Amino acid sequence: MPTNRTIYTNASILTPRGVVDGCSFSVTGNLIEDVQPSAAVSPNREDATVVDLAGRFVLPGFVDAHTHLLMLGQSLQKVQLRSAKTVEEIQSTLRTARAENPDAPRILGTSWLYSALDGQEPTRQLLDAAVPDIPVYLDANDLHSVWVNSAALAELGVTSDTADPLGGSITRDPDSGEATGMLLETAAQQIVWPALARQATDADRDSWLDSAISHYLASGVTSAVDMAVGEDDLQAFLRAQSRYGTLPLRIKGHWFIHRRETVAENLAQVSHASDLAREITSPTLRITGIKLMIDGVIDSCTASMKEPYADGTNAEPVWDREALIPVVTAADAAGLQIAIHAIGDEASNIALDALEEAYRVNGSRDRRHRIEHLETVTKENVERLARLGLVASMQPVHADPAVQENWRAVLNDHRIERGFPWTEFTAAGATLALSTDAPTAPYEPLPNMYIATTRKSALDTSLPANFPKYALGLEDALQHATRDAAFSCRAEFEEGSIAPGFRADFVILRANPFKQELEGLLENGPTTVVVNGEVQYQAASLSEGTLAARSS
Ligand SMILES: [Zn+2]
Repeated sequence: MPTNRTIYTNASILTPRGVVDGCSFSVTGNLIEDVQPSAAVSPNREDATVVDLAGRFVLPGFVDAHTHLLMLGQSLQKVQLRSAKTVEEIQSTLRTARAENPDAPRILGTSWLYSALDGQEPTRQLLDAAVPDIPVYLDANDLHSVWVNSAALAELGVTSDTADPLGGSITRDPDSGEATGMLLETAAQQIVWPALARQATDADRDSWLDSAISHYLASGVTSAVDMAVGEDDLQAFLRAQSRYGTLPLRIKGHWFIHRRETVAENLAQVSHASDLAREITSPTLRITGIKLMIDGVIDSCTASMKEPYADGTNAEPVWDREALIPVVTAADAAGLQIAIHAIGDEASNIALDALEEAYRVNGSRDRRHRIEHLETVTKENVERLARLGLVASMQPVHADPAVQENWRAVLNDHRIERGFPWTEFTAAGATLALSTDAPTAPYEPLPNMYIATTRKSALDTSLPANFPKYALGLEDALQHATRDAAFSCRAEFEEGSIAPGFRADFVILRANPFKQELEGLLENGPTTVVVNGEVQYQAASLSEGTLAARSS
């Protein structure tokens, strides 16, 4: 008689303590019931479905500890520019998109690389040359700036009189003061994003979220931490929850705190986040904390550095200590998790100072605060972060050598060698959680693991490795993207491990990554993805024979 109990036999499993071959494990309902290092998982097999995995590799579902779900879904529908290597290639891709969609009111593109410009300024004229008649909005690869054409500037109403918002800028011609076509940091966030968001309908947002969910599930991600939740995101998550019944992808969210003029306005946002954290607590949807962005990114020289960039400029932090400390202290006191985006070495200084001050005021307890990205960081701050018990939340995809050329050029000194030093964090005793920050980088977890373990490019394997001394071992990398990523969102007793009592969220891979070269990670993928005990993805080609379930 069929029941909701399934026994998987003959598997290699990534357990919290390492890889064990020849395992069996059982799932009852939505939980892992038992894991045994042999075929015989437990005696009463009569009522169960038995699946012989024929030696396949099983790992916990990946937890993408830092992502942006709606933006990912939307970007999957935009014109893709990551592979364009020159301005001409960007222009011809735009011309094709225009020709293919003659009725489109505007062109949205994403993931262009600064290196494609080869030192040229990204100007509206370069885009006007390809598409003069409708607005064009192109997100940079890092999503921290938007490159637009003249029609888009007109649609946005940006003129030489438009003021730069706090923490961002509209690039301008030094003589005429006219906007040249780039909107950086908060200028992108506060001018472009809301204007485009106003064009989008709930149906658009629902389709973006569905698209992000299905792409994640098919790649082996079963849980995602959305790192900039606002009202539109939250409403889309709640609608999805009623649409699906139970969300097929677990979502945790950090409420995005905008820097406002007064402390009271900033604290009001924290108290709203705190209300949401109390109200939204389902096993598949939770608001766990807040997100603050102290600085921008290296690529557009908007990350705050101790020393200036190679061109002599530097960036003021979006949040200085005076503004940051009250927010961090209040959020900590409210029991919220605090995630602070800090890319420049000065930004991580500010983040650590503020958190240290909150600890001093509020006393000690398990807080699970995190610093995001940490792309350039001093040795002292690595130690300090570990001492404060903070999670280092880092994205191997951002260290892909294919997106490093401009990153290195704008620093152009010894700081390049301080880029993405993952192993320093683990050596110092910090928890390292790996993620993708999609859609600022590709969302698939296995290519991310390839970069984590080789420091080579998942986009172009012929490029030399990016300081291979910081490469992680394969088992460590996988644990950082599952077990430790679950820890980073306070889910370490529910997700991220295949162990009794944990949620049955797991991935069966086509090939055992420990039995092939690391390059195999680029070809590998799931045959089956199970979330909450239910198969949410099944590859078409490998499902027959190998995974055919039989009732015993
Ligand atoms: Zn992000």
